[in-house]
Amino acid sequence: MARKKIIAGNWKMNKTPSEAVALINELKPLVANDDVDVVFCVPAIDIIPAMEAAEGSNICIGAENMYFEESGAYTGEISPAMLTDVGVKYVVLGHSERREYFAETSETVNKKMLKAYEHGITPIMCCGETLEQREQGVTMDFIRQQVKVGFLGITADQAKTAVIAYEPIWAIGTGKVATTEQAQEVCAGIRACIAEIYDDATAEAIRIQYGGSVSAGSAPELFAQADIDGGLVGGAALKPDFGKIVNYK
Ligand code: PEP
Repeated sequence: MARKKIIAGNWKMNKTPSEAVALINELKPLVANDDVDVVFCVPAIDIIPAMEAAEGSNICIGAENMYFEESGAYTGEISPAMLTDVGVKYVVLGHSERREYFAETSETVNKKMLKAYEHGITPIMCCGETLEQREQGVTMDFIRQQVKVGFLGITADQAKTAVIAYEPIWAIGTGKVATTEQAQEVCAGIRACIAEIYDDATAEAIRIQYGGSVSAGSAPELFAQADIDGGLVGGAALKPDFGKIVNYK
């Protein structure tokens, strides 16, 4: 069965709640496309107004992060139940900015993956190499490690519904897009890694996105690749261009 493409925006730390509502109202008609899953991952404080603004449209609102405990003395964190209570279905986990600035590791990402599934939230788990790792030829070793640790204890049935975002760190927010060949090669490698951990059926079902300076110009060729099932989009997700990315065909 063909995998449905999933195109998600990662708003990062952008847009106040009122700006979020205005942006969703602007983008709503532009991102209409039932052939792909469209997800806007927004700052926690924007989730409720964004849900209200997106109501009746094909836009699904997701979160950018979540903690791995149920509740308690974790000042500043957001629990999975807080997300599901307002209808969140997707959460970005292990974005490279969180790994770099907030000391997230593959081990903490794994705890969040397990917790997300406990609450029925679909993770969009990010992985990707630095420029130095690419130049040293260890890209796939590094990513395989991120994927293997991230998916520890996740069952095949759960993994089938997961989304993995391959995001080379050197391509995030830099305007440098990986070549189509580089992106396809790593996404195919991630799928092979999932087949090794689980089986071919799981590898065939899981959706793998490319992320890193995706634009309306690069999206059609990237998303036409056999192992690229859509994109995780940062900067361009905040502009009308996101409509062109969603309607890339
Ligand atoms: C991202 O934040 O996940 C991302 C890919 O950003 P950008 O598209 O701006 O490179």
